[in-house]
Amino acid sequence: MVKVKFPDGAIKEFENGATVETVAQSISTSLAKKAVAGRYNGQLIDFNAPLEADGEIEIITKDSEDGLKVLWQTASLLLGASLSDLYSEMKFGEGSVSEHGFFLDTDNAAGQVAETEFEKITQKMQEIVKSGAKVERLVVDEKEALALVDGDAYRMELVKEAVVSGKVILHKLGNFVDVSAGAYLEKVSSIKIFKLLSVAGAYWKGASSNPMLQRIYGTAFYKQKELDAELQRRQEARERDHRVIGNDLDLFFVDPKAGAGLPYWMPNGATIRRTIERYIIDKEVSRGYEHVYTPVLANLDLYKQSGHWDHYREDMFPPMDMGDGELLELRPMNCPSHIQIYNHHIRSYRDLPLRIAELGMMHRYEKSGALTGLSRVREMTLNDGHTFVTPDQIEEEFKNTLQLMVSVYADFDITDYRFRLSYRDPKNTHKYFDDDEMWEKSQKMLKSAMDDLGLDYFEAEGEAAFYGPKLDVQTKTALGGEETLSTIQLDFLLPEKFDLHYIGADGEEHRPVMIHRGIVSTMERFTAYLTEMYKGAFPTWLSPKQVTIIPVKNELHLAYCEELRARLAAANVRVSIDDRNEKMGYKVRQAQVTKVPYILVVGDQEVASNEVAVRRYGEKKTVNVTKDEFVNEILADIASYSRT
Ligand code: ATP
Ligand code: ZN
Repeated sequence: MVKVKFPDGAIKEFENGATVETVAQSISTSLAKKAVAGRYNGQLIDFNAPLEADGEIEIITKDSEDGLKVLWQTASLLLGASLSDLYSEMKFGEGSVSEHGFFLDTDNAAGQVAETEFEKITQKMQEIVKSGAKVERLVVDEKEALALVDGDAYRMELVKEAVVSGKVILHKLGNFVDVSAGAYLEKVSSIKIFKLLSVAGAYWKGASSNPMLQRIYGTAFYKQKELDAELQRRQEARERDHRVIGNDLDLFFVDPKAGAGLPYWMPNGATIRRTIERYIIDKEVSRGYEHVYTPVLANLDLYKQSGHWDHYREDMFPPMDMGDGELLELRPMNCPSHIQIYNHHIRSYRDLPLRIAELGMMHRYEKSGALTGLSRVREMTLNDGHTFVTPDQIEEEFKNTLQLMVSVYADFDITDYRFRLSYRDPKNTHKYFDDDEMWEKSQKMLKSAMDDLGLDYFEAEGEAAFYGPKLDVQTKTALGGEETLSTIQLDFLLPEKFDLHYIGADGEEHRPVMIHRGIVSTMERFTAYLTEMYKGAFPTWLSPKQVTIIPVKNELHLAYCEELRARLAAANVRVSIDDRNEKMGYKVRQAQVTKVPYILVVGDQEVASNEVAVRRYGEKKTVNVTKDEFVNEILADIASYSRT
């Protein structure tokens, strides 16, 4: 007999070898009907898998997250069955579930699968579904298992890894055998609503030294309206994805051959970046920050002293051995550089708060699987700042920084964000900088500052840095993930490590506190974020191109356009003339695709009356205004971002 414990704590005995189905039946027939699999001791198992040891059970029904995973795992098997019928030479890697569906890795020596073949593959899948075929669960020894996947080196390797006490669990549908762990539906007839989505390269076992396989993605649901919602979500995400827009608008690219995670900024992207850089430097300088330039390379000792080498090494590039005993390190953070600036002079309490800022380039060896367009890269430039304060200036300076942040967000029209106050984990205080009083006091101080300013926030215990509490601003990416954009962090530790002082009013030496803060994050992540938020239709002040002038006939109207272009350019407007020998309508459509905020068309009427025909991005009608009116309008528009 086996003892089975239920989620409510009840324990029942069943015969050894009883299945999840037996257990579900013992509760109610209606549950057994809705159930598709079980979770036994944390593992997803098949509905007809025997229970051979005591354990805790959870019955998985269709309407749960696990229920979807079972559907997706089975859909991956169904895809394999269809592919192995259609492509006799095909080899198979892993088949599993992803966040929004399923995938199967394939290797077809005879030629890769193209998305145009999806129809044929889908038809085959539907045939198998209609045939009423069943998934067979096989428990065999290693030799038998190897024989079943003979000739497929990938799956043979998977079999060898899957052996537990001499046995391997396989699932078979038609002629296809899958080695993946997980639970499967017994009848593929439940897979009625599915769709193949895309193909992409995926290294065997995720290692770039291994062969590249072809990963086929799909998704499936129990209800049509769930599939419709997923397709809608994908469509919206794609329209927003900064990598897609970045390519369409020629903003940036990454060439993995030249270096993964090392972006190249094309003129359009560089213009957006330069605009953000100028904006934030001006804004910070007006708020008392002093901008500096410091080197990206420093002697490794600096990062030993700061503690980065001990605590952050995994994310750092290996040091460069200069051959004469010197080790140079690419900085992963700018804090030690700004400490150098602080320490270059003797500081008095009258100098504080001292606000050192920089658009600081830094390098982090992010995992290759985590690299994403511009939002997670290996070389990045942070809108960084370190404020050195006396302990009783912390709250005031924290408020100043917050107000700066809120004002910047307003200028960019960023509204969808959440403040997170991160505290140390009260159950694990030993993991943090050891000064209980400091933690209690500063956490309270941050909270009261937020309350004073009337800002909404949520609190997260255990999310603090080990050196102090912090405030993060959490935003959503197009793909639905959450990421940190801005951050303000109190730090009591680095001033100690570098033995920083200021001379107090009493003439004695005192220890300052450091506040690390990033407002617009890295230029890379911020540009990615804005691209997705604006869907590529940047407001005029940020737009890489602000005006496109289109002459109806070059020979009649070009001179007029030239004069207008020169006038706008002299006022620092980013303007160009499309004088290609194409139809006017075609040129207008093309300008619209590049999302340029203003399209000006110039024909006989405009030249005669000293006007331009203006079409603003997103508006259907064209409005005629005089040249002077237009120049005033666009200059006002460009200046309008500034809210304070
Ligand atoms: P994450 O949790 O995203 O890795 P972090 O907590 O390590 O970030 P910080 O050291 O606080 O980040 O860096 C400051 C800011 O720089 C982050 O809030 C984030 O917006 C940005 N940033 C961090 N890593 C990257 C990266 N690899 N690519 C682009 N921007 C980054
Ligand atoms: Zn810092």
